[in-house]
Amino acid sequence: MGRGVKITDVSVVVHERHLPTGMPLPPMEMAVLRIHTDEGIEGNTFISPPGPNVTDQILQQVKPMLLGRDPLDIGAVWHDLWARRRSMHSTVQGYIDVALWDIAGKAAGLPIHRLLGTVRHELPAYISSWVHGDSATYAEEAAAYLDQGFCAYKLHPPTQRRMLRDERGVTIADDIAACELVRDQVGGEYRLMLDSAWAYSYPEAVTVGQAIEDLGYYWYEDPLPADDIYGYRRLKQQLSIPIMATEMSEGGVYGLAPWIVQEATDFLRGDVVIKGGITGMMKIAHLAEAFQMNCEVHDAYNALNNVATLHVAMAIRNCEYYEVIVIHPPEQYDTAHFSYGLTEPIDIDARGNAHAPTRPGLGYDIDWELIDASRVAELR
Ligand SMILES: [Mg+2]
Repeated sequence: MGRGVKITDVSVVVHERHLPTGMPLPPMEMAVLRIHTDEGIEGNTFISPPGPNVTDQILQQVKPMLLGRDPLDIGAVWHDLWARRRSMHSTVQGYIDVALWDIAGKAAGLPIHRLLGTVRHELPAYISSWVHGDSATYAEEAAAYLDQGFCAYKLHPPTQRRMLRDERGVTIADDIAACELVRDQVGGEYRLMLDSAWAYSYPEAVTVGQAIEDLGYYWYEDPLPADDIYGYRRLKQQLSIPIMATEMSEGGVYGLAPWIVQEATDFLRGDVVIKGGITGMMKIAHLAEAFQMNCEVHDAYNALNNVATLHVAMAIRNCEYYEVIVIHPPEQYDTAHFSYGLTEPIDIDARGNAHAPTRPGLGYDIDWELIDASRVAELR
């Protein structure tokens, strides 16, 4: 592909995501973004959940500005979409960017991380729990994935049920008990993290932080909401455990400057969906690098964006882990859901290492048979 290549069409295939029985989630709509070119190369990513705003904005606002354009002008498109952020859902930029990088890789005949500048070909993966009701479930889950070779485990603790299911009776005592039992289960050396996903008030955040410091946890993620930079700044002064904020912070790379200058987080954090695609995440990782900080990549909500995140992780040095969030029926400890919609699972070996994709573009094939079987519509 060279000069004169053009984007000829953009479409969105909406389908139902089928889940195994017993999953703690309702069925949900997913979608496949398709960007077509006049050379027959197609760029993709998954959109989940699609939502009318995102799909409509892609087809009505973004598509007219993409038609006829060179798909390799990825940086120019990124800035054009950023300039329209007042009228566009923040994820739209990320979805378009990933699909354009997929085209670029396929056009070059190379995996995307090769175009970004490969730093490594494997990266340790950790298991990121779903939200459970009791401590024993976390402990069993951590043990099961330790046996499978995963090198770290992160809890999303019981207090998230206050937000997710309006269970007001869950307290930080439940969270601390879960963290203690998991530590007892896996032993003192195994790496553990806690991701409280904005669940705490400031006093709660201090109490839990002190407890997991004593338990030797490695990082303390999102104890306070992302709009509380002042609270994070105070919390960092109270605790010695490294604090990870900014997963859901607004403003992409530009929104992270105050977090750094106010010393409100020890890590930067993001994924390709929320933080402006592969382009956005590379900018954020490089910003972190300038301050000797790590930029830990976040699970990106669906399989193809998890693959996109994996390419980023292979092209930066300052990311320690690949996050694998697991949602499964009770006592079925497998990571199948993480690769839903692909013809083969994302490559994580028996030692818990995720491997760099080796085929052109994103490097994983969409399971069109699965998607076509539950296809709702292809929107244009
Ligand atoms: Mg998180």
